[in-house]
Amino acid sequence: MTTVHITDVILRDAHQSLIATRMRTEDMLPACERLDRIGYWSLEVWGGATFDACLRYLKEDPWQRLEELRVALPNTRLQMLLRGQNLLGYRHYSDDVVDAFIKQAADTGIDVFRIFDALNDTRNLKTAIDAVRAAGKHAQGTICYTTSPAHNTAAFVSMARELADMGCDSIALKDMAGLMTPMVTGELVREITQATDLPLHLHSHATAGTAEMCLLKAVENGCRHIDTAISAFSGSTSHAATESLVAALRGTEYDTGLDLDALQEVGLYFRDVRKKYHQFENDYLGPDTRVQVYQVPGGMISNLHSQLREQGALDRIEDVFAEIPAVRKDLGYPPLVTPTSQIIGAQAVLNVLTDKRYSTITNEVKHYLQGRYGKAPAPVDPAVQQQAIGKENVIDVRPADLLSDEMDRLREEIGELAHNEADVLTYAMFPEIGKEFLKQRSRNALIPEPLEPVGDTPETRTRPTEFNVTLHGETYHIKVTGTGHRTLANRPFYMTVDSVPEEVLVETLDEIVIGEKDTATAAGGSRRPRATEPGHVTASMPGTIIDVLVAVDDTVEAGTPVLITEAMKMETEIQAPIAGRITAVHVAKGDTVNPDETLVEIDGGQ
Ligand code: MN
Repeated sequence: MTTVHITDVILRDAHQSLIATRMRTEDMLPACERLDRIGYWSLEVWGGATFDACLRYLKEDPWQRLEELRVALPNTRLQMLLRGQNLLGYRHYSDDVVDAFIKQAADTGIDVFRIFDALNDTRNLKTAIDAVRAAGKHAQGTICYTTSPAHNTAAFVSMARELADMGCDSIALKDMAGLMTPMVTGELVREITQATDLPLHLHSHATAGTAEMCLLKAVENGCRHIDTAISAFSGSTSHAATESLVAALRGTEYDTGLDLDALQEVGLYFRDVRKKYHQFENDYLGPDTRVQVYQVPGGMISNLHSQLREQGALDRIEDVFAEIPAVRKDLGYPPLVTPTSQIIGAQAVLNVLTDKRYSTITNEVKHYLQGRYGKAPAPVDPAVQQQAIGKENVIDVRPADLLSDEMDRLREEIGELAHNEADVLTYAMFPEIGKEFLKQRSRNALIPEPLEPVGDTPETRTRPTEFNVTLHGETYHIKVTGTGHRTLANRPFYMTVDSVPEEVLVETLDEIVIGEKDTATAAGGSRRPRATEPGHVTASMPGTIIDVLVAVDDTVEAGTPVLITEAMKMETEIQAPIAGRITAVHVAKGDTVNPDETLVEIDGGQ
């Protein structure tokens, strides 16, 4: 048999790649009857960033989405993307959480589990693969493709053999960045399909404009399963178009057997859906070959762009692009995929913004260098490792071996907010936003009224400074944190949107009255003193305080950790710049801070 089978990623990766994972279940369901009739090998519908996006932005229950899709797609295999021991969160979970999550996903409707690890450390895949097999479902072991001195065809082939030995039902070759080129793909596919009997699935991205060529080369060299996206959500950072591949292979020995006419209807439907989400579109459509230059995936480029804009440091973006491959080399060339892409991106930003490489090191990089994410593909830089973790021992066991069971603790912590096991797992994945989601649900207040002031005291009624604004079904929390001077023709308003600082220019200000309390926080919104003394503790970049480790009158040594901040989803420890006595603490847990502010004052004495 040489038929080529298609997995359409329209309900997961296509919208994750093009509209920031924002497609709502209500826009998926009307297409399901038609999708179910196409005869795809599978539809990728769940996992990746969709779980996070459901809770964080869409205020949808991801488990309910899966239930509804299962009912609406009775004849098609449903597939998900799972980050091995990280599941759908950003840390390693204990084995009992992995088992519970996979059982729940299998019971709710997933047939095919595509399981990957950001470091290609197969120890991080084992529990998940075993759990999928125990549930009687299809376990697809994944090779994350990347390029580096440590990555070559032989290494990928040996990983494929290992995945086969671990009991996988198939193998996925995942080129999440769009780095593959046609000739390399052909060779790799030929070697892997000769080395194992397992079906090989190719997941490529159209980012650099090479996807169709890679898919054709793969097919010619023995690959019988390809991932594509229906045309309306294809191309650029997404995937090759389903219809194009069906047409290209029609009437050949590789014919997909899919009906091009039936696919047209699906494509037209999603063309209209896409219009609704225009605000989430990338401003860079079409082939983006920067990935071939910087090795930085397209999604990561756009993330860095918005993160640097928030830091007011967009002018340093080229420096950050140059720093990313350097940090990746220092860390032993991990593939850039969640969560390593974020870990490396944030450290590269710190290295550039502090003007001194590794003067500040995120906790995640420390954990990485301790071996807590798994084994790096190549040796890490010893000097960076020494600076980050000193003489601490590096673990050489499977990271999850150091974790004890967590489900009982999680059940207890979330208590009555969880109605079932799925809710407990929601909380496990995202302790903050998961819990908030469950709380909101229990308050039965999922959709706040548009433009409703928060709190209804006489003061806030006359001059509201906080709003929930619902735009296209998505609710934003707007807080006015300060304003420019009244007499200015263009008066800037400083506000946060979902806790992210934004500046808004308002031309006429008569209608908007801000109270005294708020004008006091004008121009940056801070009442903390500017840092002028060596004993003034500051942050390297804007962020949130997640822990205060000292109190007034404590004595500290130079280098004692005093605060933990979070920026770009990464935690950073801020250390005392000098030894002395703490004379003031200007921050509390949850505060947002800026680099020019004094957060803690230390008196160094004489
Ligand atoms: Mn992908």
